[in-house]
Amino acid sequence: MDTSTLTIESTRSAIAEKQITATGVVEEFYRKIKADDGDIHAYLTLCEDRALQQARHIDDLAAKGGTLPPLAGVPVAIKDVMVTKGLRTTAGSKILEHFIPPYDCTAVARLEGAGAIVLGKTNCDEFAMGSSNENSAYGPVRNPRDKSRVPGGSSGGSAAAVAAGTALAALGSDTGGSIRQPASFCGVVGLMPTYGRVSRYGLIAFASSLDHIGPLTRTVQDAAIILRTIAGRDPLDSTSANVPVPDYVEEMSKPVKGLRLGIPKEYFGEGLDGETRSAVEGAIEQLRAAGCEIVPISLPHTPYAIPTYYVIATAEASANLARFDGVRYGYRSAHAHTLSEMYRKSRDEGFGAEVKRRIMLGTYALSSGYYDAYYLKAQRVRTLLTRDFEQAFQKVDAIVTPTTPTPAFKLGEKADDPLAMYLADIYTVTADLAGIPGISVPCGQTKSGLPIGLQVLGKHFDESTVLRVAGAVSLKSRT
Ligand code: GLN
Repeated sequence: MDTSTLTIESTRSAIAEKQITATGVVEEFYRKIKADDGDIHAYLTLCEDRALQQARHIDDLAAKGGTLPPLAGVPVAIKDVMVTKGLRTTAGSKILEHFIPPYDCTAVARLEGAGAIVLGKTNCDEFAMGSSNENSAYGPVRNPRDKSRVPGGSSGGSAAAVAAGTALAALGSDTGGSIRQPASFCGVVGLMPTYGRVSRYGLIAFASSLDHIGPLTRTVQDAAIILRTIAGRDPLDSTSANVPVPDYVEEMSKPVKGLRLGIPKEYFGEGLDGETRSAVEGAIEQLRAAGCEIVPISLPHTPYAIPTYYVIATAEASANLARFDGVRYGYRSAHAHTLSEMYRKSRDEGFGAEVKRRIMLGTYALSSGYYDAYYLKAQRVRTLLTRDFEQAFQKVDAIVTPTTPTPAFKLGEKADDPLAMYLADIYTVTADLAGIPGISVPCGQTKSGLPIGLQVLGKHFDESTVLRVAGAVSLKSRT
C-alpha cells in the first residue's frame, strides 16, 4: 500500500469503500516507522498494540456499513508535551522520563473521538524550549529532507514525522513559532490557531499566555479538518473561547479574489536569505495573479518582539516549571539527604541546560527590583505589538511573510549560541504575542532542495481566511 499520497479524506473514504482497512494503514505506517525512524528519531514512544486495537474498531464499523467518523483510521503523531492517558509523556525531558499521565489532553481526546489513531509521541525540545530540537534530552531529530540539518523546533519530531511519511498528520504546540518554524524547515503545513481557539487542557505548560496547540499536515485541507475537530470551548480550560467554530473546509474553498494582503516591510529586511525572499515573493505574485490586492504595510514594533518574547516566555516558564520538584511526579534525585537538597538535586539532575537557563532568566525578570524594568515593560511592548496588528488589520484581510529568515540550518550550527538560535524565531514570535492565528505553507525550495515556508497571519478567530490564502498558495506551488 502506498501511504505517501493519503490525505485525511482519502483515508476515510478508502476505508469506508473497503479499498483499504484501518488495520492495514496502521500496520504500513509502523513498518515505515521501523524502517526509517532510526535515522530521523521523530518518535520517542510508540503504542502499536493500542493503535491496532483502535484500527480494528474502525474496521468493524466499516464492515457493518456504519458512517465513519471524519478522521476514521487516520494515523497521527502527538508531540510529547501533550499528556496521553496510560502512554508515557516526557516533554523531551529527563525529569519526566517515566511519567505515565492519568488523563488525556483535550485535543488528543477530540482527535481520537473523531476516529484518528495515535501512532506514538514525538520528540521535541525539552519543555518545548528551542528552535532546532537539539534541546531534547533524548537526542536530536534529523530533517528528513537533509539529514545533516535540523528539523526546526520545538515540534521537530511532529514536523519530521509528517515530512518523512511516518505519520499522516501530527499535533504540535506553538509558543513562539514551534509549529510554523519546523513546518517550514521540513516542507509541511503547520497551523497555529488563535489563542483560545483550541483548549490547552493537558498541554504541559511552557508559557501559558503564549501556548497554542495546532496541526502539522501534508495539505492545507488536512489542517482545516484537524482544526475543525480540536477547536471549540472546553470547560476544562478557562482560556478556551466560546466562539463558534466554522466549517473550515468549506470556508477555505472560497476564492481568494478580492482579498487584501498586507506585506510588512519589517519582515523583508536585513537577515532574510536571498532564496527565501525570492520564493516568498514568487508566492506573493501568484496571489496577486489570483486576484488579491497586495498592500505594503508596516508593523513598526517588530524589532522589539524577540526581547519581549524571551522575557515573557521565560518569566511564565519559571513559574510553570516550579511544579517539577521531585515530590509530586517525575524524577527524584537518589542522592539527597534533606528536603531542600532533594528539591535542588532533582531539578539539577532532571532539567537540561536550556531549561535551566530559561528558569534563571525568568526568575530574574520577575524578581523584586527588576520586575518593572523587565516583565512589566515587556507586557507593555506586547500591547504595542498587538496594536501594530490591529491597525494593520483595519487595512488588510491577512498578512503574508516568510516563516523563517533562512531554511533549515545544520545540526550543531547554532547549538552553542543561544542568541543566534533565538533570532531564528524573529518572524514567528509576533503572532504568539498578539494571539492571532498563523500558518506556514510550503512555497518553494532552495537550489539544494531545502523547503521554504510562507507564513499567513490573520485576525483573531479568522483562521478561515488564513487557510483560504494558504490553500491558494499550496495549490499553485504543487502545479
Ligand atoms: N523557539 C522558541 C523558543 O525557544 C519557541 C518555542 C515554542 O514555540 N515552543 O522558545
